[in-house]
Amino acid sequence: MKQSKLFTKTQKNSPADEESKNAKLLIQAGYISKEMAGVYSFLPLGLIVLEKINKIIKEEMEKIGGQEILMSALQCHDVWQESGRWDDKVVDVWFKTFLKSGGELGLGFSHEEPLTKNMKNFICSYKDLPFYPYQIQTKFRNEKRAKSGLMRGREFLMKDLYSFSKDEKEHNDFYEKISEAYFKIFERLDLKDLTYKTFADGGSFSKYSHEFQTESDAGEDIVYLDREKKIAINQEVYTDEVIEDLGLKKENLEKVKTAETGNIFTLGTKFSDALNLKYKDEKGEDKSVFMGSYGIGPSRIMGLLVEIFSDEKGIVWPKSVSPFLVHLVSLEKNEEAEKIYQKLKENNIEVLFDDREKISAGEKFSDSDLLGISYRVIVSEKSLNSGGFEVKKREEKEAKILSEKNLLDFFISEK
Ligand code: ATP
Ligand code: MG
Repeated sequence: MKQSKLFTKTQKNSPADEESKNAKLLIQAGYISKEMAGVYSFLPLGLIVLEKINKIIKEEMEKIGGQEILMSALQCHDVWQESGRWDDKVVDVWFKTFLKSGGELGLGFSHEEPLTKNMKNFICSYKDLPFYPYQIQTKFRNEKRAKSGLMRGREFLMKDLYSFSKDEKEHNDFYEKISEAYFKIFERLDLKDLTYKTFADGGSFSKYSHEFQTESDAGEDIVYLDREKKIAINQEVYTDEVIEDLGLKKENLEKVKTAETGNIFTLGTKFSDALNLKYKDEKGEDKSVFMGSYGIGPSRIMGLLVEIFSDEKGIVWPKSVSPFLVHLVSLEKNEEAEKIYQKLKENNIEVLFDDREKISAGEKFSDSDLLGISYRVIVSEKSLNSGGFEVKKREEKEAKILSEKNLLDFFISEK
């Protein structure tokens, strides 16, 4: 991609109406734009990052048997009435609206009810179970406070997977599997060392649910963390009884601020009973399907990555989600820059080429730092005179000179 053709531009200053670092940097760099509080649009570079996060999540969900679907955002009142979750007193984040032809609709904040109802078309006997549909879909929540940029949207992206199992044992096996899959996702996002499996409120069907809490001052949660054992307790359930139950010691627990990046939840038969989702077991007897739900927030993660991986000059994307591997910056109009751009592309190396004319070197460097692409390659008369191209990692100070061949070999190995 050529930067001269990119319609988005970086801004000189960060937006005055944003409090959070992630929104400030992402808007200033032209990744996203603000429509209103808690509502953002993704621009070309922002969409590339978001889709890379989604791809990592999808790959890990497919590996454990997830099957991708896409459900509607508009929600039918009747099905939520059946489970008792239509009432604003029960769910306080609903956005609702009216149909011209009569009747009330909601904008989905989660999808347990419509999916459970839908599955009545496909589940008949024990032979149909288990299975694991998931989606990456836009959710709507009327959040009271939306000052954390992408980390608390009123419209945001969620990966939600739902498990439909025969019984609790089959459910528990999958629950462990997806927990491991979540850690693989966090590992690929460079967040594993900061992310802790956290014991939280389990609702009616199990003692605990598990949250994946990532250490960050930008988070809105408080957990008590045992660093050695790599587990934590959400402050909502932090009692002497729970500490003892988990075999932890109060003196080893550290109070830290975290952001909830994902959670996994045993639903049991709460929704299958409410919506009458049953299957026939081997003896031909009717049984309720045993369910679980598993969320993760791609847009929240994108914001959190910026909170964690950034410095005073801008963003420092982890390589796995950097919009491009290489930011090729040409300081003067020269044929060598165009030639190496073509060579990188021929080798399928993702590259953004700053080919803009009449922009000072200083401005190009500060734009490059702001954008945070993993590697910066400078082509200039000076670099060519010293034998090639000046290459440096975004977070490093020192650059090295590589010849064309070494440059291509290096990036092919870094892909
Ligand atoms: P929180 O306590 O932060 O409001 P939640 O418990 O309401 O989160 P879930 O309903 O379990 O969250 O949603 C699953 C995932 O979706 C969360 O782990 C988080 O990553 C993401 N998520 C939830 N609410 C938002 C939001 N308002 N903006 C962006 N992502 C969100
Ligand atoms: Mg919430």
